[in-house]
Amino acid sequence: TPSLKVSGLAYAYPDGTQALYGVDVVIGRGERVALLGPNGAGKTTLVLHLNGILHGGLGTVEVGGLRVDAGDKKALREIRRRVGIVFQDPDDQLFMPTVREDVAFGPANLGVRGDALDRCVTAALERVGMAHVADRPPQHLSFGQRRRVAVATVLAMEPEILVLDEPSSNLDPAGRRELAEILLSLDVTVLMVTHDLPYAAELCPRSLVLSGGVIAADAPTSELLADD
Ligand code: ADP
Ligand code: ADP
Repeated sequence: TPSLKVSGLAYAYPDGTQALYGVDVVIGRGERVALLGPNGAGKTTLVLHLNGILHGGLGTVEVGGLRVDAGDKKALREIRRRVGIVFQDPDDQLFMPTVREDVAFGPANLGVRGDALDRCVTAALERVGMAHVADRPPQHLSFGQRRRVAVATVLAMEPEILVLDEPSSNLDPAGRRELAEILLSLDVTVLMVTHDLPYAAELCPRSLVLSGGVIAADAPTSELLADD
């Protein structure tokens, strides 16, 4: 079963703007894929369909074989666990008094308690090298550290697919390198929305180019760079 299967996805906003025209994408388990394309291409619209925030157009989305169906509340809860979205701004994701509480929030909401919750939080923080800041307030961390904690909040849910919006934005060279090493070390399917071609090339063997609401290219990232 692929991590993601998007078939014939077409969507127009209520004002009539057609944002996607029949998008087909299959991403296998463990793949790392960059989603490239100019502003207005439809990248955000596509991502917001993966967990059912946007719906009502044509076509289907399946995550790990489970259909995204906005009308099925129970299935949608599972979909939102399976699709882990890391926003561009970590401060949209971190709102608790400590890092530990932020990372615990998602699994606790799923009913994980006690020692199992502690283990889950520690494991997620270790995967991003942030276990040593577990008891600090997120606001006391650097921007790069906050982004890594935001990744941990999503990993704690054990997602089928990790979706990152511009993960390299606002990072200095050291922060970029640290995050790249973390993402390369994770054993998880990744879809990364980015304008940062070198970062895509380093992390993602495959790239999708969305342009005007259609997939204009789906190719090894190295080939796309060679064409530029
Ligand atoms: P990208 O993320 O690639 O920049 P978007 O998915 O945000 O592209 O936008 C795709 C198209 O849909 C663009 O034409 C954009 O202006 C339009 N669009 C995005 N959000 C809305 C909205 N809420 N209402 C109407 N049109 C929108
Ligand atoms: P990004 O590059 O992060 O996708 P965009 O410029 O595409 O940013 O969009 C920023 C926000 O503005 C999004 O929430 C999008 O839905 C909204 N938006 C974009 N185009 C339109 C539009 N034509 N009408 C209404 N909202 C829009």
